[in-house]
Amino acid sequence: MKKLPTILIVEDEPAIAELISVNLRHNGFAPLWAEDGTAAQRELDAVLPDVILLDWMLPGQSGLELARKWRAHPRTRAVPILMLTARGDEPDKVAGLDAGADDYITKPFSTQELLARIRAVLRRRAPEHSGESIAIGALSLDPATHRASHAGQPLKLGPTEFKLLHYLMRHAERVHSRGQLLDKVWGDHVYIEERTVDVHVKRLREALGDAAAMVETVRGAGYRITAQPDATKPIASGA
Ligand code: CA
Repeated sequence: MKKLPTILIVEDEPAIAELISVNLRHNGFAPLWAEDGTAAQRELDAVLPDVILLDWMLPGQSGLELARKWRAHPRTRAVPILMLTARGDEPDKVAGLDAGADDYITKPFSTQELLARIRAVLRRRAPEHSGESIAIGALSLDPATHRASHAGQPLKLGPTEFKLLHYLMRHAERVHSRGQLLDKVWGDHVYIEERTVDVHVKRLREALGDAAAMVETVRGAGYRITAQPDATKPIASGA
């Protein structure tokens, strides 16, 4: 039998934790409950969960502090964190994402919404674990060492440009809309505008130098990376 994905719920309110646990169990997950950061740390030291559901407001260390701590620690770095925040607290969401949370969900939330977010973070995290290096033409990228190079020359890429390049290279020759790239590279953070993609594509091309033309704009459709760029097309125009 396939192992059920384990979800560590860090939540100080037993009624909420119980409700989430019941819903997760009914939907094929194995929930664990920790009422604060200390209890959560004990669970993490024992076995790593597949996802951490982390309440923002906790006694002792806040969810924000815990997210930052776990993201900085090699053992817990790769575990997806889904923050639970109060309704409409936009600065909280941004701070949570800055602290290293993968996504947030606003209380009160529906079971369907919670399950969708959990499945999304699991999907997004899964390919990164493969960690295989990829080469397209003279361009190569190694997720394990977080390095990319063109014709043997190392490329200087920001974290988002690296993720973007990694995603494009994993799905080379296919056209991706900005919305798809936002979902796959950034995650489904609703407040990020599609123009953000253009900004990072521009930065990626600048970093690629001679290989910039490999990242093609497909007018009205989006972007793709190709081994054989069309030399007749200008590269810097919008999609
Ligand atoms: Ca709380």
